[in-house]
Amino acid sequence: MEKVVIIGTGCAGLTAALYTARANLSPLVLTGIMPGGLLTTTSIVENFPGFPEGVDGYELMTRMQKQAERFGARVQFATVEAVDFSRRPFTLAVDGEPVQAQTVIIATGAGHRHLGVPGEDILEKKGVTYCATCDGALPMFRNQPLVVVGGGDSACEEATYLTRFASVVHLIHRRDSLRASKIMAERTLANPKIKPVWDSVVTEVLDPKLDKVTGVKLKNLKTGAESTLDCAGVFVAIGHVPNTQLFTGKLDLDEAGYVIPRQGAQTNVEGVFVAGDCSDHIYRQAITAAGMGCAAAIEAERHLAGLSQ
Ligand code: NAP
Repeated sequence: MEKVVIIGTGCAGLTAALYTARANLSPLVLTGIMPGGLLTTTSIVENFPGFPEGVDGYELMTRMQKQAERFGARVQFATVEAVDFSRRPFTLAVDGEPVQAQTVIIATGAGHRHLGVPGEDILEKKGVTYCATCDGALPMFRNQPLVVVGGGDSACEEATYLTRFASVVHLIHRRDSLRASKIMAERTLANPKIKPVWDSVVTEVLDPKLDKVTGVKLKNLKTGAESTLDCAGVFVAIGHVPNTQLFTGKLDLDEAGYVIPRQGAQTNVEGVFVAGDCSDHIYRQAITAAGMGCAAAIEAERHLAGLSQ
């Protein structure tokens, strides 16, 4: 039986892995389908303390994993399909095999929110994408007009990155001011290749009949005017949804699906702890996720110490 199973290998999961490994708990750390989490899809992380020149997101996560493994964390490429928290030890179905655990740390992170408009799903990977760093350099986007949707830090980061390849980047935002941090917003709006389209939403992605993206239909929310904008790619950066479907009915979740943390990193089930973006819709930073992972690890360690007394 495992003392600690950690679900997720983003900043939260790998920090929990580091701390529980250093407490000699030999944690089993399950990656899910995206080892390293969302940060692996980012380019340069400029706000993680300790890296004055910034650090590549993939490299940061690789280093975190190596650091945890150095102290005995066992990172396994595997997906949790079901959990049973109703009896102890807890049971997880991991790639079809049962795994028993005394404590579980949930650090499943969040995924990309979709626009939910016609043409979006059918043209995914045919011009619609949720990750500029992953897909921006593809030949189909070179020297083409591209669209980024959103007004937060992600949208600004994606738009700026895409100016390397695109002829022009249209930044579509539903309001007339960016939500992004001041430094990112200023940098974005100062870029001559980025053209903001304010107060507007994408209502349709064109053209499924041609099996590729040729443009978007837009609606101006202030005037009601509708228009079409030609583009070869649509990069959607409108926030995230927590990866918590697995825990519906098993843990207390809020209306948006985030695990509700209690007294720090605890959940409503004793022995199940939570950390990172799957329980945080406020801060959502790499460093806060890491801090929450640390807290969850300390809580799990204390819980195990209590069990053995
Ligand atoms: P976010 O801050 O939640 O911004 C989402 C943006 O999408 C908002 O501008 C929002 O509009 C818009 N939006 C939401 N739903 C929409 C819809 N259905 N249709 C059209 N627009 C929609 O998300 P994020 O940019 O992914 O950032 C998430 C967190 O990660 C933030 O805390 C951010 O600071 C952090 N982050 C940091 C960095 C960095 O520092 N390098 C990079 C990326 C992300 P409204 O503004 O009108 O709500």
